[in-house]
Amino acid sequence: KEELNMIQGALELRTKTVEDVMTPLSNCFMIHNDAVLDFNTMLEIMESGYTRIPVYEEERTNIVDVLFVKDLAFVDPDDCTTLKTITKFYNHPVHFVFHDTKLDSMLEEFKKGKSHLAIVQKVNNEGEGDPFYEVLGLVTLEDVIEEIIKSE
Ligand code: ATP
Ligand code: ATP
Repeated sequence: KEELNMIQGALELRTKTVEDVMTPLSNCFMIHNDAVLDFNTMLEIMESGYTRIPVYEEERTNIVDVLFVKDLAFVDPDDCTTLKTITKFYNHPVHFVFHDTKLDSMLEEFKKGKSHLAIVQKVNNEGEGDPFYEVLGLVTLEDVIEEIIKSE
């Protein structure tokens, strides 16, 4: 029954982690910090269909900002505005969470906070060097809800 599946899904929020439901970094649609908002770039953003787009600098693992598609409302592609102008203006905070965050606490955070997207990271202390934060992907409220309402 559907109701049972939802109860099951809700119970699993306590054991499943954001890493289990996130979109892995390799599948994330992101934009480079140095991008110019010309026609082609804006078209690409529109065609991605995503509402929130992480902004990276140098490497895809280095996320420095989030662009909301609605931030582009006043941008004229003919002006070739830089992305930085826009991200500096709106200055949305980037919300990071650890990979082992349970879905129930993630849901609480999404309910409290303003953003419904978080960047998933872990502390990587494998290897010789100093431990560092490694970005694994992104998680949205939709991913958590999906876990509750999925029917198996
Ligand atoms: P909204 O539904 O609020 O307009 P959206 O469709 O852009 O936003 P969500 O509904 O939050 O995104 O998420 C849908 C799925 O897409 C989720 O699995 C989420 O992890 C994934 N997702 C969201 N943003 C991106 C992105 N920039 N790149 C890749 N996947 C993303
Ligand atoms: P997003 O979070 O994806 O940027 P949003 O903030 O426009 O989108 P939702 O997060 O989907 O909207 O909804 C937030 C709340 O605002 C909900 O209670 C929803 O019913 C309400 N809402 C959304 N759009 C409108 C609107 N055009 N007029 C009035 N209320 C709205």
